[in-house]
Amino acid sequence: MQPLLYKKLDNNNVQCNICYNRCIIAPGKVSRCLSRKNVDGEMVLNTYAMASSIAVDPIEKKPLYQFHPGTKVFSVGGWGCNFQCKHCQNWHISQDMQENKGYCLPPEKMIELAIEHKCEGVCWTYNEPAIWLEYTIDSAKLAKEKGLYTAYVTNGFMTIEALDLIAPYLDVFRVDLKSFDDEFYREISGIKSGKGVFETARHAKELGMHIEAVTNIIPTKNDSEENLKNLAEWIAENLGKDTPWHVTRFFPNYKLDNIEPTPIETLKKAEELGKQAGLKYIYLGNIK
Ligand code: SF4
Repeated sequence: MQPLLYKKLDNNNVQCNICYNRCIIAPGKVSRCLSRKNVDGEMVLNTYAMASSIAVDPIEKKPLYQFHPGTKVFSVGGWGCNFQCKHCQNWHISQDMQENKGYCLPPEKMIELAIEHKCEGVCWTYNEPAIWLEYTIDSAKLAKEKGLYTAYVTNGFMTIEALDLIAPYLDVFRVDLKSFDDEFYREISGIKSGKGVFETARHAKELGMHIEAVTNIIPTKNDSEENLKNLAEWIAENLGKDTPWHVTRFFPNYKLDNIEPTPIETLKKAEELGKQAGLKYIYLGNIK
């Protein structure tokens, strides 16, 4: 399978331009997201069609509340991630690869299973789908041929050029807007800057995709009134006031197991700020 969006550099290095990390991978090394490797100066896909997780979910679980409600979506995750979030709920698949525990799921098989399970759509979720760009494009094309909808559940860090490649076959961009403050992305997600997330989300809107945004609010990290206000205003201005905003409760997990769950009052405050910004659909998540 031919890797996309990479170039060869001097000394047999290769550079990937699928996400804003724009990794330079030395010969013999695997990318930080685990999805590709440099073999003798050639970029090689490391995880194509290797699924870590498969499930049939209600679309609302993604969460997606305003796109084909009541339907079942065939949900697939791979291995690795371009972020290293300290609170990742799926760290066992996003920060590791255990080939012997996964499934071989070629695009044809994925779509066949989706139809067999009476799903109306497919989504790539559980880990970051963009690092699996080649696989998601191949399976999205087949999904569209069969009349299924397609959705990315994404951290939004893919480059605009990567989004443009899958855009003709992608209906939904369910994007995490983790924080308006770059320091959060550095400290919590391990990347240099989150600015690209906002650029790409805006581009998804320009491309006409259905967008729903999620902010998981972590006490002391991204729960300031200023940050939540900035996020709400940015969504209203750039994605539109009709864009659903899911503000979800954090629970201690992985490397952030020393922080208390988000107080419900904080979610309500975010809701109030969202309304002040003009957002029409704000949903409080993880509260039951
Ligand atoms: S997709 Fe992976 S290899 Fe490519 S730039 Fe992002 S982190 Fe690096």
